Amino acid sequence: MKRLIFLGPPGAGKGTQAQTLSNYYQIPHISTGDILRQAMTAQTPLGQKAKIYMDKGELVPDELILDLIKERLTQPDSQKGWVLDGFPRNLAQASFLEQLLANLNQSPDFALNLIVPDEVLITRMLERGRRDDNEDTIRRRLQVYRDDTAPVISFYQERGILQSINGDRSMEAVTSSLQAAIES
Ligand code: AMP
Repeated sequence: MKRLIFLGPPGAGKGTQAQTLSNYYQIPHISTGDILRQAMTAQTPLGQKAKIYMDKGELVPDELILDLIKERLTQPDSQKGWVLDGFPRNLAQASFLEQLLANLNQSPDFALNLIVPDEVLITRMLERGRRDDNEDTIRRRLQVYRDDTAPVISFYQERGILQSINGDRSMEAVTSSLQAAIES
């Protein structure tokens, strides 16, 4: 049973590492970015609203995300653990998650913070070529990360579950360090 939260800037490799750990521990990989992109492709009301923010590199309003995460974490498959990727993205989301988990009698095991220099993040995102990976959007997402998301690191440090990992290495090396941190 593992309950893991990925932190780190856009392009740090959260999605890749979260998917690897999800396979390894046989727990759901819950990516709010993936859920929003699927909603966009399906042109649901959520997708249509989210698109406006995502295309600009802004965070989607909490009201669109919080119900979605509550719904997902109360599904039967989430009772055996999960790896969160892209949530929480600000302190309000972190507080909401803490309360939600308390209501479910759960608590996260680790917040895994991937550390990668800005130059590397920008190169990786430009290579990835997602629709929100153009230069202006990337710059805005890094700024939003610093302003809104970085404070979440201290939130989990204060709760004693933060593990910071150097993400500027091969995929395999990062995975090994993550596993070592989780098993420690
Ligand atoms: P990601 O795939 O995690 O990089 O997310 C892509 C985009 O989806 C972000 O730039 C935001 O616009 C939106 N998004 C994903 N997760 C969240 C979240 N937890 N809160 C607000 N917006 C989010």
